[in-house]
Amino acid sequence: MTATTPLPTATILGYPRIGRRRELKRAVESFWAGRIDETELRATARELRAATRERLVALGLPAAGGAIPESFSFYDQVLDATLALGAIPARFADIAGAGDLASYFALARGDERHQPLEMTKWFDTNYHYSVPEIDERTPFAADPAQLVAQLVEARGQGVSSRPVLVGPVTYLLLAKPSDDAGRRFTPIDRLDEVVAVYAELLASLAAAGAEWVQLDEPALVSDSLLLSREETLALVERAYRRLGGGATRPAILLAAPYGDSAAALPRLGALPVEAVQADLVRGGLPEAALADGSLAQAFTGTQLVAGVVDGRNVWRTDLRAALERLGRLRDAGIATVVGTASSLQHVPHDVAEETRLDARLRSWLAFADQKVAQTATLARGLADGSAAIAAELAETDAALADRASAPGVHVGAIRDRAAAVGEADRRRGEEAERRDAQRALGIPELATTTIGSFPQTAEIRRARAGFGRGEIDREAYDGFLRAEIERVIRLQEEIGLDVLVHGEAERNDMVQYFAEHLDGFAVTEHGWVQSYGTRATRPSILWGDVSRPAPITVSWSGYAQSLTERPVKGMLTGPVTILAWSFVRDDQPLADTADQVALALRDEIDDLVAAGIRIVQVDEPALRELLPLDAERQRAYLDWSVGAFRLATSGAGPGIQIHTHLCYSEFGEIIGAVDGLDADVTSIEAARSRMDVVAPLGDHGYSRGIGPGVYDIHSPRVPSAEEQAELIRIAGRRIPGEQLWVNPDCGLKTRGYEEAVASLTNLVRAARLVRADA
Ligand code: GLN
Ligand code: ZN
Repeated sequence: MTATTPLPTATILGYPRIGRRRELKRAVESFWAGRIDETELRATARELRAATRERLVALGLPAAGGAIPESFSFYDQVLDATLALGAIPARFADIAGAGDLASYFALARGDERHQPLEMTKWFDTNYHYSVPEIDERTPFAADPAQLVAQLVEARGQGVSSRPVLVGPVTYLLLAKPSDDAGRRFTPIDRLDEVVAVYAELLASLAAAGAEWVQLDEPALVSDSLLLSREETLALVERAYRRLGGGATRPAILLAAPYGDSAAALPRLGALPVEAVQADLVRGGLPEAALADGSLAQAFTGTQLVAGVVDGRNVWRTDLRAALERLGRLRDAGIATVVGTASSLQHVPHDVAEETRLDARLRSWLAFADQKVAQTATLARGLADGSAAIAAELAETDAALADRASAPGVHVGAIRDRAAAVGEADRRRGEEAERRDAQRALGIPELATTTIGSFPQTAEIRRARAGFGRGEIDREAYDGFLRAEIERVIRLQEEIGLDVLVHGEAERNDMVQYFAEHLDGFAVTEHGWVQSYGTRATRPSILWGDVSRPAPITVSWSGYAQSLTERPVKGMLTGPVTILAWSFVRDDQPLADTADQVALALRDEIDDLVAAGIRIVQVDEPALRELLPLDAERQRAYLDWSVGAFRLATSGAGPGIQIHTHLCYSEFGEIIGAVDGLDADVTSIEAARSRMDVVAPLGDHGYSRGIGPGVYDIHSPRVPSAEEQAELIRIAGRRIPGEQLWVNPDCGLKTRGYEEAVASLTNLVRAARLVRADA
């Protein structure tokens, strides 16, 4: 390997790439709309990257020595790895190799001739990646162009940056076999070939002057993938022995973010790589190996990037506690670099932008920029002693003490109510009794419905923004929303849907809307976080005890129900999803916070029922997402998350039908929990996978209603009635017809009216076609 300098004393694994004002989103979407061309889009991206490097240096990361990661992506880092490996699925062969952004986005989003790559959650985050499709014949050929270009670009700025790539083991474990793959094939079978391509990429980077490269291997901390941790670790050892032996390569930082790598650390340290990163927020250290010196032994000649700054949450780092842990490592003789636990792509850019946020709350927070600065501060403290950062330590201590005693953080009445919850509060009546009572709803077999939202038109967004800015008064805005609800109800009646929705026009976002109406939450102005591609969410901050000062959805749902004889679903977001898509207080167990939210929702359901609503859907699309990566913690999580959902819904009498909606299709491993929710009807995403989800449900003996999506709402394509009928028939082979519901994969919020109406019309026809089969 070429001689390299050690990694400087502070680094981060990655930085938000969407831009402080979501510049990347706007530029990419303009490119899609044909308003700007590729040259212009690339120029915007270059400016964003340059601004990021400059800022990271200004915040205290060294410009030299590879401390600055190149974590930009036009869409997704896993897709970028697919391109760097040349692993283009055969079904895209006709557009591959063009190297232009239009082909890149065709893989991500599909086009007239191609279904897009599937998208799924990145570990236990709310980020989604484009799933690689690999089979026995997938070509692999190193394409280092992007990686090299960014490196050169950085050098022009006086920065020696560190290219970042998803590592080979994680890449293949996240891939799925393509439709052409043989039945026994799994992508990881091709590890050795892929590692050879990584070796070529590393050689090209070295030739281009890279001092360091970062390879992310979060598969190391996950129990949810195809292989056991031991098997994954063995493959990582095999891959990195080979990569480490490469003749010309940059120094390698092998990163294990998102979870606990303690048990693997001694073996990772012994690999022929120059640095290993460990997540010390979610994970710990191998205490015995630290005490007996064997960890230091394993790390001889290898730096440990100690991930003590949380990349997943927005709270100020407890600098004193972090410094103490860093000191222990250093005192054990380990060359310690201060780092983040994961990439900072999961937090917003900068707290300083939040000028409207309560100043007291703001003083408790840290977004990406603050976390970078904290990383640099800790590095100074580690090098020069705590006295060197005395001012920062004092400021942190004061903020932490203030937060612990602030009003609203602990509210006696809320705590008393939560403490009084018993098991009976989490149980509904018998299934058979409920089924009988719900016959009064008059719902037909293969009932048709939607998931909740109707298209959010420009007009709706304009009205909401105008109301937010005070240009439209409450009365006018309410009138607008009522007219919108009436329009959506009439439209659904015309289309012939059986169970209606009010359309959610009043909601900017399914979590933020509730956060805005519950005590204990704050919302940000600019706190956007990438969810996938150009989509970003603005998580609310759950900082205090949660309660419901007044009914939230009742007037809208009640109004919708008053317009029609058909049942209208009340529409709520469940406690787990509210937690998952918010930044949640870190000073008490999630289980306690979830129960507070559940009690507020329970009151809301009571009020909905009192207003004449007979079906309530409680969405939990994030149930799978929050599942911890390690098996040990999974059970405890499933216990409290299912418990919170049941606490929210068990106040409803047997005649009230409870629905839930789960967005994704991979829930094999939580099928017991999905059953445990005890919802009367569960809708799930299924169209893209052609109903793959129904077989496990059938095998599990799932006995209540199930609505596998027959219309893929992620694409503007209008599926025909025949096509949707075929999917219903596939589902019908595994699930009895009386349990089946017919619905789209998810809400229609992002769709246009024309395609949504055409697709729903076909959906209703599809249900009729299949009813006629019988
Ligand atoms: N009811 C929500 C909607 O239709 C559900 C969205 C989701 O599952 N992400 O928009
Ligand atoms: Zn959904």
